Amino acid sequence: MDFSFSAEQERIREAIAKLCARFGDDYWLERDREGGFPADFHQALARDGWLGIAMPEAYGGAGLGIAEAAVMMQAISESGAGFSGASAVHMNIFGLNPVVVFGDEAQKRRMLPPLIEGKHRACFAVTEPDTGLNTKKIKVKAENKGGNYIVSGQKVWISTAQVAEKVLLLARSGAGLTLFYTDFDREYIEVREIEKMGRHAVDSNQVFFDGLPVPAADRIGEEGKGFEYILHGMNPERILIAAELVGLGRCAVSRAAAYAKERVVFDRPIGKNQAIQHPLAANWMALEAANLMVFKAASLYDAGKPCGAEANAAKYLAGEACFDACQQAVMTHGGFGYAREYHVERYLRESFVGRIAPVTPQLILCFIAERVLGLPKSY
Ligand SMILES: Cc1cc2nc3c(=O)[nH]c(=O)nc-3n(C[C@H](O)[C@H](O)[C@H](O)COP(=O)(O)OP(=O)(O)OC[C@H]3O[C@@H](n4cnc5c(N)ncnc54)[C@H](O)[C@@H]3O)c2cc1C
Repeated sequence: MDFSFSAEQERIREAIAKLCARFGDDYWLERDREGGFPADFHQALARDGWLGIAMPEAYGGAGLGIAEAAVMMQAISESGAGFSGASAVHMNIFGLNPVVVFGDEAQKRRMLPPLIEGKHRACFAVTEPDTGLNTKKIKVKAENKGGNYIVSGQKVWISTAQVAEKVLLLARSGAGLTLFYTDFDREYIEVREIEKMGRHAVDSNQVFFDGLPVPAADRIGEEGKGFEYILHGMNPERILIAAELVGLGRCAVSRAAAYAKERVVFDRPIGKNQAIQHPLAANWMALEAANLMVFKAASLYDAGKPCGAEANAAKYLAGEACFDACQQAVMTHGGFGYAREYHVERYLRESFVGRIAPVTPQLILCFIAERVLGLPKSY
């Protein structure tokens, strides 16, 4: 059993940290204030080939595993970029896994290289306003018209839809759900941004499809098997989100510790008080324990072994540990924790993104109770 990173993983971590250092606190503070996609950050990662880290080499990727992708995404959020930075590229890193696994050769050649080169940005359209976590009940319809499709209906919370050129779309066709990767053609799609709590740099939206034509060539795999294909990508996505959450939590703890060393009240640094030290020490332990689960899940996935329980557990543990750490970082800063220029209030707001999406803590607990403990399905 070896818990250390390989030389290559260390190299990835260092290279990403170096790249992210060019996009410092002021950059993310500005993005958070003004909104607007961090296109220069996205392009910087694309230029150095990072967007293809987990994509097959045959299509221009690096062919590395989910563990390496997790190292990369963690380093992005840990740099202070948080979810503003991680979500700007998250979808590109592993979102198209269903195309890699279930797409045909022509689709992979057509769809993957532009994503890896940063020419296409893709959004992921699953969630709907009336069905929530009960994905099997989604209503957006893809009507089969002689092999091609016409898509109509509403999605919600679709991130990056303001800037995306492409959409990975789950829709109902016939009796089942079908997956498409197609042009995000704004002639047939209306996008309304949702005003939200945090992560202003990366938009989330209501999306209305009004007769979007989708050629048969853009259907991934077989009709009616879309839910199955999406399930395939769920574990890697949970692992990446969990890695991002640990990164953000670490960033919050290190900011709080630095502040606690400097801030003098009652003639001594506040960090000399155990009431300040102990919660931060507990935050560090919770984050590092969650991180062990992240990389256990990643190494199981990369070895082709089942990892559903571990991937879900990692996402749950990292979400709670990150939230606690961010909250503690705000409290450690006292009143200044509430001021934007100290950044920790942004981290706290962003921690909710990874707790809620793509699956909530409650539903993870339901999953573990049912699948690991063998209790009756409760949902
Ligand atoms: C910032 C952000 C970005 C997002 N980006 C995307 C995106 O790009 N693409 C996309 O498709 N989706 C996206 N989502 C949607 C996200 O995946 C969903 O919000 C999430 O899956 C929860 O679904 P819901 O909001 O419909 O909650 P609901 O299903 O309405 O659930 C509401 C609450 O009830 C609880 N609940 C429901 N059923 C049960 C049960 N049986 N037992 C216990 N508790 C239950 C849930 O845990 C939750 O706390 C995003 C969300 C956010 C906030």
